Amino acid sequence: MEQKIAPFEEVVAFHGHTCPGLAIGYRVARAALQALSVERPDDEELVAIVENDACGIDAIQYVAGTTVGKGNLIFCDYGKRAWTFINRRTGHAVRVAEKPEFFEKKSDPLLSDLVRKVRSGEATEEEQREFFCLSEQYVRDLLAFPAEEMFTIRRVTPKIPEQARIFRSFTCAVCGESVAESRARVRDGKIVCIPCHGHYTRGWG
Ligand SMILES: [Zn+2]
Ligand SMILES: [Zn+2]
Repeated sequence: MEQKIAPFEEVVAFHGHTCPGLAIGYRVARAALQALSVERPDDEELVAIVENDACGIDAIQYVAGTTVGKGNLIFCDYGKRAWTFINRRTGHAVRVAEKPEFFEKKSDPLLSDLVRKVRSGEATEEEQREFFCLSEQYVRDLLAFPAEEMFTIRRVTPKIPEQARIFRSFTCAVCGESVAESRARVRDGKIVCIPCHGHYTRGWG
């Protein structure tokens, strides 16, 4: 089946810059849509379970139409480079995971060193230029490598998550802001939000 998949340029415009992480997310989303034989669905037909919150998530949201706002992108804070996509209509699901040996082989120590320098602000102008060149080349390669070399792509049977639910909301007794019942906590007998309860959280995990 010939599928309409958003071009990478649109994903770059959505994300704000081009980077290897975005290219990997793009390849993941494309591989999953192909494996499940779906185009970008406009409703909540497709669900993505992502196990890291790096740049690639933006490509997945844009290409697969699985977004945090629609509730069909589920973030599990496992720090794993794996993504599961479920087609609610057919019940089919695929898990795409990076092949560590492939990415180890492709990793360029020079680029890693430049990334570190650019991030810490130590890079000279020359090194910045070199970083952009190498990184652009890596992105082009990531868009071209055969998917089977980069990832293991296999059918799985995960539990189908329920559709996004609307929760009753409460007013936090400490900050006065609204909090969904599913996330509310009790402190000294009063309903409070998680930040006021004093827990550290990434906020949407
Ligand atoms: Zn990025
Ligand atoms: Zn509060």
